[in-house]
Amino acid sequence: MKTYLRILSYVKPYKKHLAASIMCTIIFALLNGASIYLTIPLLSTLFQEDQKSKPAGTEQVESNIDDSISQSILPDWAQSAIDNVSDSVNDFLFEGSDNEILLKICILILLAFLGKNLFGYLQAYFLAYVEQGVIKDIRNQAYNHLHKLPMSFFKGEKTGNLISRITNDVTVVQASVSAVFLNLIREPLTIIVFLGIAISISFKLTLFSLVILPFSIGIIVWIGLKLRKQSALLQAKMSDITTVLHETITGVKIVKAFGMESYENKKFADQTKKFFRLILKMVRIRNAASPITEFLSVIVGVIIIYYGGQLVLTEQSIKASEFLGFLFAIFQLMPPIKELGTLNNRIQESSAAGDRIFEILDIHPSIKDVPNAKSINDFNDKIEFNKLSFHYSDSDETILDDINFTAYKGQIIALVGSSGAGKTTLSDMIPRFYDPTEGEILLDGINIKNIKLTDLRKLMGIVTQETVLFNESVRQNIAYGLGDFPEEKIIEASKAANAHNFILELPNGYDTVIGEKGTKISGGQRQRISIARAILKNPPIMILDEATSALDNESEVLVQEAIERLMSDRTTFVVAHRLSTIRNADRILVLEKGKIVQDGKHDELLNDDKGIYRRLYELQFRD
Ligand code: ADP
Repeated sequence: MKTYLRILSYVKPYKKHLAASIMCTIIFALLNGASIYLTIPLLSTLFQEDQKSKPAGTEQVESNIDDSISQSILPDWAQSAIDNVSDSVNDFLFEGSDNEILLKICILILLAFLGKNLFGYLQAYFLAYVEQGVIKDIRNQAYNHLHKLPMSFFKGEKTGNLISRITNDVTVVQASVSAVFLNLIREPLTIIVFLGIAISISFKLTLFSLVILPFSIGIIVWIGLKLRKQSALLQAKMSDITTVLHETITGVKIVKAFGMESYENKKFADQTKKFFRLILKMVRIRNAASPITEFLSVIVGVIIIYYGGQLVLTEQSIKASEFLGFLFAIFQLMPPIKELGTLNNRIQESSAAGDRIFEILDIHPSIKDVPNAKSINDFNDKIEFNKLSFHYSDSDETILDDINFTAYKGQIIALVGSSGAGKTTLSDMIPRFYDPTEGEILLDGINIKNIKLTDLRKLMGIVTQETVLFNESVRQNIAYGLGDFPEEKIIEASKAANAHNFILELPNGYDTVIGEKGTKISGGQRQRISIARAILKNPPIMILDEATSALDNESEVLVQEAIERLMSDRTTFVVAHRLSTIRNADRILVLEKGKIVQDGKHDELLNDDKGIYRRLYELQFRD
């Protein structure tokens, strides 16, 4: 329930639309009632009943019991108000010849239906406005929040899961908004209006119907709930099938290499078989639902008709036209009651979806500005790593162990070591993607935790192994985060990154949208675009994770040149794989199991026969 109220709190900005929707709903319900109510005088005229002596709705000849009960539940003033309205409506309607009366009633019915549909439309529109507004706001909030979350969150969560929360779960939440406003406002109103009509025609008959109606409605609601449950199961099964499919497609090489085709086929067939069974079950329920519902309604209808028919024929306590009007009204009661029966279920569903979304929104970012964080806009001297240790929050394994070193402005610091040694983790600490578990990093003597996060990151350029390009133009990709940048600067940076020439050859040059059909950009070209991006930002500190992926010789040379230009006149931390980068480094830190085991320049380290560096060098940089 708490989740549900929280979802509802998002409706606040849409108060006006909500109010408009409620107003329209009220008018809709009243006109809906009127459209049914008008059938009584219509039928009465057609049946040539004596209207004037027995005006519809204000029974003088109703049985005594009926009269006394209906009077006892309504206060006198209300009863007389109803009588007055009915009297004047009847006076107006039943004046003139039969044909005139018929025409008047037809016009009124037309107007009632016109109004009802118009307000029904407006009501639905305003409600959709509120619903979609809420969805938009929740989605935006969740998306904005994602940007505040620490890197660790993205490593732990599966991307698909995250995307599904922001797209699918939010949509399920939408259902709950409509559930409330339709079910808690429109349906009760409809029930009140039609119940009012039924009571005004015959209290006794209404009471009788209310005794037998719940029985059939109960069964109908039960079937509805069962169907809902089945469809939820079905969705879960479908996602199992998608998972198998996804695994196979991404792992197709392995499946082929290990000759596991028939095993995978069987796995898939198992899943589709389960789905098949489930869907058949659902088909059975669904197809049984409507005949059962219809038959139950007919049973109820027949009982009411038999009982009411006797009132008409024998007791003559109500007129035939009123009885038919009564039947229309009582059957209009069924759908809203049915809807209300599934209300709780819908709230449960949307709360579950809401929980999944709020779970993300409730994660408080661990990496954020401290109060009174310092503003800086320059890097002048050095970065010190003091007794820095680190483990990821989801495990106790020490990833970095007592790291101590100082990087001076203008130096190239290469981080080398075998895979898993902690190089990437160490470089991730500098822009505070992670905070050290122990120890500190000082930038010009200030603990980076006390520096404004945006200021800190502004000082740094980052080129990662996987080059991330967005589905925008090449120009926008290069000037990412820099706003409108002068054309010549962009070209200058591209030239420095050896990217200018191939960009000019793209279909629309700098305006080519990356990812659009026909735009073929190789791995090496992508890297150069991302290097151009870093050169354009021109930060004093560069963090570089050299790509290990094999490039062809020409690309390799071009990328290498670009990287060298990128590093010049900057303080660079580089997770190094390339010989030339390492040779040029002012200082090489060799990491092993999170510790710095060797520290020096290339030639010094190479001379240590027993050192890890020598071994790594021989392994990796032989050729
Ligand atoms: P390198 O860059 O030297 O290959 P990394 O810094 O990527 O090494 O990883 C160091 C160790 O930390 C590895 O054992 C790796 O499994 C572990 N690791 C990396 N990222 C995470 C994470 N998000 N959660 C838990 N462990 C991680």
